[in-house]
Amino acid sequence: MPIVINEHWCKKCLICIEMCPRNLIEADEQGLPYLKDPDECNECENCAWVCPDFAIDIPEKEEV
Ligand code: SF4
Ligand code: SF4
Repeated sequence: MPIVINEHWCKKCLICIEMCPRNLIEADEQGLPYLKDPDECNECENCAWVCPDFAIDIPEKEEV
């Protein structure tokens, strides 16, 4: 999974949905964002940068 969303930190503001240039993030029935198509994510980090609560992590990038 290219991005990991910490549901305990997420306040469901949904800014990340607006800011993904590939429109890959959607909200589930609880209003929590999730990555709908992981294969299409290029780990651009936009969603992680715009999240006001630091709820989005990009683990594969951190290992580099
Ligand atoms: S920007 Fe952050 S806090 Fe807002 S919905 Fe997305 S993950 Fe949650
Ligand atoms: S890392 Fe970039 S492409 Fe992947 S979900 Fe976040 S904003 Fe979209």
